[in-house]
Amino acid sequence: MKYYSTNNPYHLASLSEAVIKGLAPDNGLYMPQQIPILPKELIDKMPEMTFREIGYEVIGALFAEDLSKQQIKELVDHTLSFDAPLIQVEEDVFSLELFHGPTLAFKDFGARFCSKLMSMLVKEKSRTLRVLVATSGDTGSAVANGFLGVEGVEVIILFPKGKVSKLQEKQFTTLGQNITSLEVDGVFDDCQTLVKQAFSDQKLNQHLLLTSANSINIARWVPQCLYYFYAYSRIPKGSKKVVFSVPSGNFGNLGAGILASRMGLPIDHFVAATNVNKVVPNYLQGLPFHAQPSIATVSNSMDVGNPSNFPRLQALYEKNEEQFREKVKGYYYSDRQTIEAIQAIQLKSYTLDPHGAVGYLGLKDFMDEHPDYIGVFLETAHPGKFRDVVEDALGKKLVLPERLAAFLDGEKKVIQMGKNFAEFKGFLEGLD
Ligand SMILES: *Cc1c(COP(=O)(O)O)cnc(C)c1O
Repeated sequence: MKYYSTNNPYHLASLSEAVIKGLAPDNGLYMPQQIPILPKELIDKMPEMTFREIGYEVIGALFAEDLSKQQIKELVDHTLSFDAPLIQVEEDVFSLELFHGPTLAFKDFGARFCSKLMSMLVKEKSRTLRVLVATSGDTGSAVANGFLGVEGVEVIILFPKGKVSKLQEKQFTTLGQNITSLEVDGVFDDCQTLVKQAFSDQKLNQHLLLTSANSINIARWVPQCLYYFYAYSRIPKGSKKVVFSVPSGNFGNLGAGILASRMGLPIDHFVAATNVNKVVPNYLQGLPFHAQPSIATVSNSMDVGNPSNFPRLQALYEKNEEQFREKVKGYYYSDRQTIEAIQAIQLKSYTLDPHGAVGYLGLKDFMDEHPDYIGVFLETAHPGKFRDVVEDALGKKLVLPERLAAFLDGEKKVIQMGKNFAEFKGFLEGLD
């Protein structure tokens, strides 16, 4: 399979180039040149298959030309090492819990797949791959934990000193092994700038194999389609049509759902649910796409004013705006509505995190207008990850899951770094 750039359908890359480069040289996003369609008989059989068995088929359809059966099995087994249970919250309303991985957020799926695939691709190159990540919190922990102990790959995380929550910080600074954390005396944008400078420094790139594992990488994006297949197979559908509501920021997660539907999964509609960063809901209402500065909210992992995966959504609908707006409905919510949803659902004995709450609200509004549907919202993080907001909303303490609490006991290990490039470059040059 070849991958094309969303900026130029004639620019083609191999899987290995697309994954190791991350972004196409023309700054487009890589997309598979053909989207394989799974046979209906296979989709009909999925209710009797395990999550991993579904994974072998779906990943096999996408990557069989580039990877061996054994490699596909290893990739899927590594990625799907935890479950994604579908929990009924109300009549015809289900929560797809994507937070049972090591860092308690859905990004674990993409990060685990990406790390494993990168390690397979660099084995052939017999050089150490260095993954540079600038983080304001969540991405660092998912990427670090996804790459922990993966052979042939070293991860260097840059985070702004004093700007990341203690819990988030502990999730990547305590790991050791092939994970190094640099505490940068600056803000997130300084970290981002250092990473970009390193990628564009020719001399450095002659010596080191550098890459990025941010969410536009095809290897982080594609595997997210797996849990749509799995959830769909577990819904007690009867004769109802199915809608998925996706709390969104950069729109990788929603795009992966649309990819699953393009592969033949009969999802009838999608809901793009956001906080007040509502560039995409506005577009879906008929306005032109117009990036905005981001606004801080209680669902802060979705505070995105210029969603990076938007070109992928357009590509999936082959630039057919009418079809895009017909199949995907957009809704957005204030912090107050988000908090009220957390409170209301607690009365039904279910605890939402602020991101899942936005997904839930979008689903309910869609279902009010379309009563003949059964709906799933994606619960993208464990409520304990956003405990300040959730404890405040509920007026009580949450019990943290053991693996989240366990991070708090680890010892923080960091290297202090100024925000000037010379110092960072010196550090990178010191790596052999
Ligand atoms: C990253 C993130 C999102 C947004 O996902 P996108 O794929 O960027 O739309 C939603 N919820 C949580 C908890 C996240 O960490």
